[in-house]
Amino acid sequence: MGNMTQEQWGKLQQNLLTTVGKNNYATWIEPLEFLEIAEDVAVFEVPTSFLGNYVSQNFGDLILHQLSEVVENVRRINFRVAANSSQRPTRKAEIVDMPKEVQKDAPAVVPQAAREDLVPGAPLDARFTFDTFVVGKPNELAHAAARRVAEGGPVTFNPLFLYGGVGLGKTHLMHAIAWELQTQRPDLNVVYLSAEQFMYRFVQALRDRKMMDFKQLFRSVDVLMVDDVQFIAGKDSTQEEFFHTFNALVDQNKQIIISADRAPGEIKDLEDRIKSRLQCGLVVDLHPTDYELRLGILQSKVELHKMQYPGLELAPGVLEFLAHRISTNVRVLEGALTRLFAFASLVGRPITMDLTQDCLADVLRASERKITVEEIQRKVSEHYNIRLSDMIGPKRVRSYARPRQVAMYLCKQLTSRSLPEIGRRFGGRDHTTVMHGVKRIEELRVQDGQIAEDLEMLRRALEA
Ligand code: ADP
Ligand code: MG
Repeated sequence: MGNMTQEQWGKLQQNLLTTVGKNNYATWIEPLEFLEIAEDVAVFEVPTSFLGNYVSQNFGDLILHQLSEVVENVRRINFRVAANSSQRPTRKAEIVDMPKEVQKDAPAVVPQAAREDLVPGAPLDARFTFDTFVVGKPNELAHAAARRVAEGGPVTFNPLFLYGGVGLGKTHLMHAIAWELQTQRPDLNVVYLSAEQFMYRFVQALRDRKMMDFKQLFRSVDVLMVDDVQFIAGKDSTQEEFFHTFNALVDQNKQIIISADRAPGEIKDLEDRIKSRLQCGLVVDLHPTDYELRLGILQSKVELHKMQYPGLELAPGVLEFLAHRISTNVRVLEGALTRLFAFASLVGRPITMDLTQDCLADVLRASERKITVEEIQRKVSEHYNIRLSDMIGPKRVRSYARPRQVAMYLCKQLTSRSLPEIGRRFGGRDHTTVMHGVKRIEELRVQDGQIAEDLEMLRRALEA
């Protein structure tokens, strides 16, 4: 087992300085205090858990990589918040675990395996806390329920069943509950794992003839969280075991939290008795994000990026544009932002609309709305109570011209059509006419409350 002297750490810091640059170094690396290497974990002290989270997320694999060139067998990094830190009072040093994907894929070594046997949970992602979870209409119920469970008070609903589409924050909320319980109720044995890991452990226990241990382990937890439970659909013996574990814990009044990509009743090949058990508690869904939530998430994430790239300029309207155009899932949205900042800092240019469109062309294309020009024309003419033919036709009276301009504006905003293409679809008008119309609505939007309201309503209707 290797160790590292303070001199070696000093040298390593020099390397990091050249890799991450002066600003990043001063903000993020310099405050780290190297403590020790225990087993295969390098432990650093950090002044705040925020800094630990941030470094773990953004520089974790880099540090790990450089470390492993100096010391053998380091597989993980832990950040321990300094005991005398002025943050909230902590009973003991808080451990910020590395996100799973950052852990180095080293050849299997014994200590890791042994530890997994003792603690059947999966590592928690340091970024997934309540602090970083943005609440909006689509997720407020799920968030409130998660908060309640995280208080660790008497069990009021069991299980809590969270469901929703990919990337809507199910895993984030579950990790947040676990983090919160670890600080609020360190006496509780909280276990988080995916349904896949549950199956894997179950199969392993069968193979190693350790079913008694397995049962004992899972029946001794106080709070059990199983993520993506749809995974065990169709896997009969795993379902069976899961059912028994579930019942044993519910009987002991232990809290269970489950997530899935759909409602319990809609998971195919899941036994009926399990379905009905899952429905016994509180079932809440995370709705698809709306524009406001996406914008809120972007605004919160942008703060982190600004800290990482101080001085990088962000043009107004870019976040709004992204929130409009990328509506698939939050993971894609986050990825887009990260890429945008990295790209802009690399080429040393401010983040403008042009740069955004260049840098994210593929993402934008992939998440392109299926909203068509025809749809917009239809909705707008309905809204203003005019005939579609009048909207597209040549008449220039105000009662047709204004809705026409509104429709042109929405086409520019919500589709990827060029001005000439839009012009063609509005009765073969010239692109300068379209441009004029778009400009006019942009002005009116600021001056005229009614127009602003119309636009908002139409956009919602079209995006619904
Ligand atoms: P799911 O498990 O539902 O597929 P995740 O919890 O893994 O989704 O979320 C995907 C990504 O989006 C994560 O990085 C998560 O932090 C982020 N995310 C999702 N919802 C929110 C939210 N409301 N606020 C902040 N980040 C979010
Ligand atoms: Mg998930």
